[in-house]
Amino acid sequence: MDEKNLQNRFYDTPYGRKILKCIQCGTCSASCPLTGLMEHGPREIFALIRDGDMEPALRSETPWYCVSCYQCIARCPQEIPVIDLMYCLKRMSIEYDLVPDSHKIPDLYRAFSQVVGHHGRISEAMVMAHYGMLHPLDALKNISVALELLKRKRLEILPQQIIGRRWVAQLSDREKVRKYIK
Ligand code: SF4
Ligand code: SF4
Repeated sequence: MDEKNLQNRFYDTPYGRKILKCIQCGTCSASCPLTGLMEHGPREIFALIRDGDMEPALRSETPWYCVSCYQCIARCPQEIPVIDLMYCLKRMSIEYDLVPDSHKIPDLYRAFSQVVGHHGRISEAMVMAHYGMLHPLDALKNISVALELLKRKRLEILPQQIIGRRWVAQLSDREKVRKYIK
């Protein structure tokens, strides 16, 4: 898909056209506690999208660093829903296979989706098991936390399943996600 089509796809998502109101003041980037780690701050990402540079925007690690802290939204003079737009970028980068290889968070999202797809609900132990298969050292680092949670009965080893888990699994179907985010 070419850049123009990707840009239109982004604009057609529920919050996509909101970035047209961005005045590039940079308040979001200045307020963001993670800007130092991001290759582009939120302001720069929005500039890329408006310029039609969709592939760099979708390959950027920036949305994957966003922790939904709301600092940017609270201060944006144009009330732009930065977090929703970050989620939109994440969904599109997954949909078009442009997820940055260098970042581990997409693997955590995948582990989360796999567990919810199989069981219909979240299970922290299973998420870490799936994620740990890709990043065993990270999983090992968290063993002491897991043991402490087990001791305090805050972690279940075996996941519970919901009755309608097949329906939940359909939510992660690519075509259905595509329709969902239109
Ligand atoms: S604070 Fe709002 S208007 Fe300013 S650059 Fe960020 S998104 Fe755009
Ligand atoms: S919500 Fe995301 S982009 Fe906005 S300030 Fe927080 S981390 Fe940064």
